[in-house]
Amino acid sequence: MKKIIPFIFAIILVVTTVSAGGIAFADEAVKADERAIPVLMYHSVLKSKKGTYFVSPEQLEKDISEIKNAGYEFVFPEEIIAFAEGRGDLPEKPIMFTFDDGHYNNMYYGTDILKKYSAKAVINVIGAFSEFSSTSGDDSNPNYSHLTWGQIGKLYESGYFVFGNHTYNMHSFKPRYGIMPKTGESETEYAEAFRNDFLKNQEKLIAATGVKPTVFAYPFGRYNEKADGILKEEGIKITLTCNEGVSVVKKGEGECFLKLRRINRSGEYSTDDVLARIHGAK
Ligand SMILES: [Zn+2]
Repeated sequence: MKKIIPFIFAIILVVTTVSAGGIAFADEAVKADERAIPVLMYHSVLKSKKGTYFVSPEQLEKDISEIKNAGYEFVFPEEIIAFAEGRGDLPEKPIMFTFDDGHYNNMYYGTDILKKYSAKAVINVIGAFSEFSSTSGDDSNPNYSHLTWGQIGKLYESGYFVFGNHTYNMHSFKPRYGIMPKTGESETEYAEAFRNDFLKNQEKLIAATGVKPTVFAYPFGRYNEKADGILKEEGIKITLTCNEGVSVVKKGEGECFLKLRRINRSGEYSTDDVLARIHGAK
């Protein structure tokens, strides 16, 4: 118990501290060596459902079209990483799209829309869900299927999608809350469980796409210092939170480990509201 108290304290500290550099909104002037990078978080793309975790294909298309009209350019994580590490540049108004959980409907509805506007997106895959679709054969229902490893490979080859790690099997509230330690779990046990789960999904994604993911999305936005240390050791450069807002990334030297804020794109509001959120008006 003595050991676990400072550990829990460290977790609370990390959860309550924002460490993604600054927070700003895209309309504010940024210095030449800084970029405000709005990151939108989508989940399912469906015609039949509306809610916090669903947008319609029409909403997705309108978002992309109006975001482009407003002068934003879609970027992949690797471009942000190169900028942060001082190896590359970014457009003046970059934006990154992310889709969490690896839904098959991202491919079913999203591919043609992204192609039409030459947009780019990151899909954050939950390995166990993709494994289930891959092995059960129940792999092409937009309402509930997840992307199979084969579909992930094809989407990567298309050039419009890259893939992030969203845990292999830590996307639930039990026995642990996302990636958080279980009650009574020692720091060593926790570290081993988290690393093994993370690496299992990395291996699957590397096998499917041929590249090692450098992005990790925290399930339910929960994170802690121990897990961050492991992610850094294993080559993750960007972690995606559910903290609302727009992060400012500085052009720098050396390796980066960016904790980026996101804007949850709920289906319950309009494209105008999305732009307002990007600009900090809402
Ligand atoms: Zn998720």
